[in-house]
Amino acid sequence: MEFLAGDYQIAVIGAGHAGIEASLAAARLGCKTVVFTLNLDWIGNVACNPSIGGTSKGHLVREIDALGGEMGKAADSTLIQSRMLNSGKGPAVHSLRAQIDRRKYSEYMKHALEKCEGLDLKQAEIVDLVRTDDGRWKLTTHLDAVYLADAVIISTGTFLNGKIYVGDKSFSGGPDGMFPAVRLGEALKRLNIPLRRFKTGTPPRINALSIDYSELEAQPGDEKILPFSFETKKKLKNKVECYTTYTSDKTKQIILENIHRSPLYSGQIEGIGPRYCPSIEDKIVRFADKERHQVFLEPCGLNTEEVYLQGMSSSLPEDVQDKFVRTIKGLKDVRIMRPAYAIEYDCVDPLALKPTLELMTEPMLYGAGQFNGSSGYEEAAAQGLVAGINAARKVQGKSEVIFSRTESYIGTLIDDLVTKGCQDPYRMMTSRSEYRLVLRQDNADLRLTEKGYEIGLISEKRYKAFLKKKAAIENEYKRMSKVIIPPSREFNDRLKELGTAPIETGVRLSELLKRPQLTYADLKPFDTTAPDYDDEIFEQVEIMLKYEGYIKRQNAQIQEIHRLESKLIPDDIAYKEVTGIRTEAVEKLTKIRPVNVGQASRISGVSPADISVLLIYLAKHQN
Ligand SMILES: Cc1cc2nc3c(=O)[nH]c(=O)nc-3n(C[C@H](O)[C@H](O)[C@H](O)COP(=O)(O)OP(=O)(O)OC[C@H]3O[C@@H](n4cnc5c(N)ncnc54)[C@H](O)[C@@H]3O)c2cc1C
Repeated sequence: MEFLAGDYQIAVIGAGHAGIEASLAAARLGCKTVVFTLNLDWIGNVACNPSIGGTSKGHLVREIDALGGEMGKAADSTLIQSRMLNSGKGPAVHSLRAQIDRRKYSEYMKHALEKCEGLDLKQAEIVDLVRTDDGRWKLTTHLDAVYLADAVIISTGTFLNGKIYVGDKSFSGGPDGMFPAVRLGEALKRLNIPLRRFKTGTPPRINALSIDYSELEAQPGDEKILPFSFETKKKLKNKVECYTTYTSDKTKQIILENIHRSPLYSGQIEGIGPRYCPSIEDKIVRFADKERHQVFLEPCGLNTEEVYLQGMSSSLPEDVQDKFVRTIKGLKDVRIMRPAYAIEYDCVDPLALKPTLELMTEPMLYGAGQFNGSSGYEEAAAQGLVAGINAARKVQGKSEVIFSRTESYIGTLIDDLVTKGCQDPYRMMTSRSEYRLVLRQDNADLRLTEKGYEIGLISEKRYKAFLKKKAAIENEYKRMSKVIIPPSREFNDRLKELGTAPIETGVRLSELLKRPQLTYADLKPFDTTAPDYDDEIFEQVEIMLKYEGYIKRQNAQIQEIHRLESKLIPDDIAYKEVTGIRTEAVEKLTKIRPVNVGQASRISGVSPADISVLLIYLAKHQN
C-alpha cells in the first residue's frame, strides 16, 4: 500500500557522477532535495576505468570545480597517481588524469552527500513517475513509498533497462553485478519520453599477483602533481605506478577465430556503442593492419589487488577472454577476477532537451549524465551540475543558466548534445571545441568562478581568494609587458644555451616570452622586479603572452558568437510562418527549438541564408 514518505522541492533519481553533482548543487542552492540510488555502497561508482580526467575530461573536471562542484575535490582526495597528459604539446590540450582509489572515491562521495545540509540520501528503486493534478511530480519506490517533488532530475546512467552481454550469455542487469531499473523505463515510455538504446563495454579486472611486471613498462606519475581543485592546497603524492604492455599476434588470432561468438558481431547487441571507446574485438576488426594494441594496467585502489586492463573492453565469452588475455605480454599466468562485459541501456534522445537540460515536453523534468546520451564520469558530472543548478533556480523562480560553448567545455558538451544530438554515446574531446586555446584547463577558474559565485555555489572566502589571484594575473600581465630586460653577457650566454638569439638592446619581458625556446622560469633570474607570486600566476601569464595573437583572434570569433547568442528566439515562434526559411530548416528548428540565433546557426540543415531570414524576422517582430 502506497504511503507518503516525503515532500521535496527537488528529487534526483541516481547517485552516480551526474546525480551527485545535481543533488549537491540543488541542496547547496537552498532547495530541499532528495537523491535516490539502488545501492548506497555504490555511490559514485567508477564502473569502468578507475581514473578521473584525461584528454578534455580533465578540462571538464576543472570547470566543475571552478563552478563549485565536487568531483575535483573527490579526485584530489582519493588519487593514487596523477599525470598531465599531452604536456609535450600546447597548453590547449594539456589535460590532467588521476588514477583514483575506486572504493575511497565512492566513500568520499557518499559522505559528501550525507553531510550536505538540506539533502536526504535514500536507498530505493524509483519504479514509477507521474505528474500530479497540481503539476508536481509523484515518485513511487519499489516498496510503494511515495515522494512528491516540484522538479525531478533523471540520472540513471547505464541502469535503465540494463542488459548484460558476455558471449552468448545475456541477462537483465546493471553494472558490477547490480540490478537494472526496468520499471522506471516503462514509466518514462508512458510519459512519451523519446528513449533510445545505447551500449558500452568494460574490460576484465585481473589480480595483480598474477602479473609478471618484469615484462612490462612502468608508467610513473608526475613529480609535481597539479590538483584538479583550485581549492586543494596540500601537496599530492603518487602512491602507485601504472604499466603498459601490448597485445600479440596470438591475441589477434584468438579473437578473430572467435569473433562469431561476440554478441556484437552476432547481432545480439542492438544498442549503439561509443565510437571513441571501441572494444578490443572492434579494434582488431576495424584496424586489421595494426599488429598490436597498447594495454594500460591501472591499479583500482590501495587495499586491493584488482587491476583494470585499459584498452581491453570486450563482450566475448569468458573462456575466450581467458585465452586472449594470457597472450598479452606479462599476463601469461593471469588470474581474471571480473570478466569483461557489455551493457545495453535506455537513454533519452538529447534533442528532446533544452540547453538547461529540462525536457521540452515535460516542464520541471530534467536529464543528466549517461541518461542524456553521453559517456564518461566527467561528462556526467558536468551535466549533473547544470541540471541541479537549473532545477533549483526554476523552483526558486530565478532565471535559468545556459552555459555557452564560447566559455566552457561544459557549454560545448551540452550544446552539442541538445543542438546536434548524438548517434553513439557522446564522449568529450578537445577537437569538439572551436575555442580550445581559450578554453584551457589551467584557466577554468578565470572563465567560470565568477559565474559560480553569482549562481551561489562559490563561498565568499573562495571568491575573495579568486579575485586576489585574478588581480595578480592582471597586474603581472601588465608588468611583464612593461619590464625591459637589458642585454648582459650572462643573459646572452643563457639565451645562446637555450638556442635563441642574443639581444643587443633592452627587450620587453613579454616579447622575450614569445620566443618558443623561452619559458618564464628561464627568464625569472633576470627579472629583478618579479613579485613574490605562486608559480601558477607566472605560468598563467606566460601562456597568455605566448599565445597572445591566437587568443586575440579566438576572442574576436567569440565576440561574434556572443552577438548571435544575444539574439533570443521567442519560445512560441512558428517557423512555418517565417517566409523564406527552407522546409528542412523549418523542420529542424521546430524540432530542436533553439533558444537563440547562435544555437540555431549550429543546427545541421539550417543554412546561413536561413539564419539571415530569421534575423530579419526577429528584428521586425522584436516587440
Ligand atoms: C560497463 C561499463 C563500461 C563503461 N565504459 C566507459 C568507457 O569506456 N568510457 C567512459 O567514459 N565511460 C564508460 N562508462 C560509463 C561511465 O560509467 C558512465 O558514464 C558514468 O558512470 C555515468 O554516470 P551517471 O551518473 O550518468 O550514471 P551512473 O554512474 O551509472 O549512476 C546511475 C545511478 O542511478 C541509480 N539508479 C538508476 N536507476 C534508478 C532507479 N530507478 N531508482 C533509483 N536509483 C536508480 C544507480 O543506483 C546509480 O546510483 C562505462 C560504464 C559501464 C557500466
